[in-house]
Amino acid sequence: MAKAKGKTVELIALQCTECNNRNYTTKKNKKNIQGKLELKKYCPSERKHTLHRETKVK
Ligand SMILES: [Zn+2]
Repeated sequence: MAKAKGKTVELIALQCTECNNRNYTTKKNKKNIQGKLELKKYCPSERKHTLHRETKVK
């Protein structure tokens, strides 16, 4: 396995809750953030700000 260092940071995708497009990828520090991340982000396909929720990166 990789070093323990950096293991708390997880790569996630931010998915639009309205059109389900994955518009962003970001990193989450699991030590600081618990539960699902939710952010207001700009959705290019809808051309407005919508709520984006954390999903797994594939
Ligand atoms: Zn959208």
